[in-house]
Amino acid sequence: MFGYHGKFLGVDLSAGETRALEMEERHLKDYVGGASLAARLIYDHVKPGMEPLAPENPLVFAVGPFTGTTIPMVSRSAVCGISPLTGIWGEATTGGVFPFRLKAAGFDGIFITGRAEKPVYLYINNGKAEIRDAAQLWGKDTYQTQQVLKDELKDRSLSVSCIGQGGENLVKYACVVNDRGRVAGRCGLGALMGSKNLKAVAVTGDARPDVANKDKIDELTKQARETLSSGLMSMVYREYGTLLYMDMGMFLGDVPARYFSRNVFAAKKVTGQALRQAYTVTSHACYGCPIACGRLVKNFRKDIDVDGPEFETAVAFGPLCVNYDLDSIVQANHLCNAHGIDTISAGVSIAYAMQLYEQGILDEKKAGIKLEWGNSRSIVKLVEMIIGREGIGKLLGEGTRRMAQELGADPATAAHVKGLEMPMHDARAFTGMAISYATGPRGACHLKGDYYNIGMAGSVPELDIKSGNRFRSEGEAEMAARYQNLKDMYDSLLLCKFSSISLTQIAEILSNITGRDYSPLDINTVGERSINLKRAISNRLGVTREDDKLPTVCTTELKEGGTADRSPDMDVLLREYYDYRKWDWETGKPTKDKLLELGLEDAARDLWSS
Ligand code: SF4
Repeated sequence: MFGYHGKFLGVDLSAGETRALEMEERHLKDYVGGASLAARLIYDHVKPGMEPLAPENPLVFAVGPFTGTTIPMVSRSAVCGISPLTGIWGEATTGGVFPFRLKAAGFDGIFITGRAEKPVYLYINNGKAEIRDAAQLWGKDTYQTQQVLKDELKDRSLSVSCIGQGGENLVKYACVVNDRGRVAGRCGLGALMGSKNLKAVAVTGDARPDVANKDKIDELTKQARETLSSGLMSMVYREYGTLLYMDMGMFLGDVPARYFSRNVFAAKKVTGQALRQAYTVTSHACYGCPIACGRLVKNFRKDIDVDGPEFETAVAFGPLCVNYDLDSIVQANHLCNAHGIDTISAGVSIAYAMQLYEQGILDEKKAGIKLEWGNSRSIVKLVEMIIGREGIGKLLGEGTRRMAQELGADPATAAHVKGLEMPMHDARAFTGMAISYATGPRGACHLKGDYYNIGMAGSVPELDIKSGNRFRSEGEAEMAARYQNLKDMYDSLLLCKFSSISLTQIAEILSNITGRDYSPLDINTVGERSINLKRAISNRLGVTREDDKLPTVCTTELKEGGTADRSPDMDVLLREYYDYRKWDWETGKPTKDKLLELGLEDAARDLWSS
């Protein structure tokens, strides 16, 4: 099995046992790795009506065939399970050093079930695994946890993925954190980890599977490095990180402000340049990445360096809350990373609270805090209250869908799809984003696909995906679906979504790592299979076509800015999308024929048995 160890580590926390789980060759071929392979493994454990925090809900860490090779921008891993936030398929990816070390520890992933009686951590070293007591770690933040384990285990190459108090307290959008500010952020998988009493996973080792054609991989590595280092975007990412998009995004009407009701705002105050002017900022990279998009703010606190906010975070705690106080944005981001909660869901929930406060649906007595737009002190305080599940923070930590239910607000004003809060690209700016949000496997997802890149003159010639009119509703959904297939594959291989190598290069790399021939169209098919399998999981957990919709607060036409008087025609987009996907319009399920065509016989049986 070139490119793989051919095994996951199976962990039963209830029994306190670990064992190797051999992977079937056909599954590696059909699902490749990462989140797709995790979905294949999780599928058999899904039961209609299952409780997301039940011990039997598996938590899966997975790397892919690219991880651990010399190809740049491949130190990434996926964390998957049924989401505590949404109750349907959940996944998130992270970078840093941890993914590289997880593969080096001798496994393609970890499949965890059960619940430990008391806090534990997993220690995996060169193919050997132990479940160890974590009493000394419980209550520690994510940075402290990593440091304590590195000190205790006296291993400089050790890398740790862990939860903070957000995960311990079962905040519904708690995340999993590793290295310097690298986060598997969305879907609340940190709460799933916390529910299992699993504080951390520490990995080390030097195991590297062979690749099928080493000389060719050396050549493709060189080519990929040349492609990346000569790209203009690489240089800009290094200088300004993902915040580089703030000005341009606002110009396009792609950055939501004032809880999705505006898209014209003081962007200059929250750009990458503004961050550099306000603080001493350095960049840092995931293992083997020549770009280094990570930010480190050196002089924000005296005792530690803190992570600089990414674009999504800066918007969620900034313009979305009408807040232009950089200190509070950096502080809110630091708290989220240190204690492990998702910055997008946290920021959107806080902005929603401010909106409801303005409307009188939430008042100071009920909130216990003043919530006027732009109140930077309240934003930071609310983040602390969400992490600690104190006062109104307990409700905000459940997400906007639950907030609307509890507070008696119009459900269409809650900015989520299927329970996952809307990211910081505006659905009105690119119809391809609108349909991607409505149908994404985990809910409102800006990474699967990041269609704004296509809408801004991007293309994938191998799949006939190219930029059209960003506002048109006819003809975009099919391309958006193909782009979802491709971006799903990035999370299977695992490859950073900022990599600019072509699909042809990707297919060649995969073929020469695994020794199996994959064409660009084969990659599209594997992505399509993965999307349909994840859809089948969510269908079994209750998702129907009714759930493929956007909140009206994110589609109502605005009066000014880059999207003035524009709104996606969701009916047109959805019908075209369903036609292309061969999903059943009545039920929202993939048709039996489509499932059988993709080799998903078990899903066809489970969804269409009656
Ligand atoms: S571009 Fe950024 S996220 Fe991607 S691999 Fe490089 S440092 Fe990591």
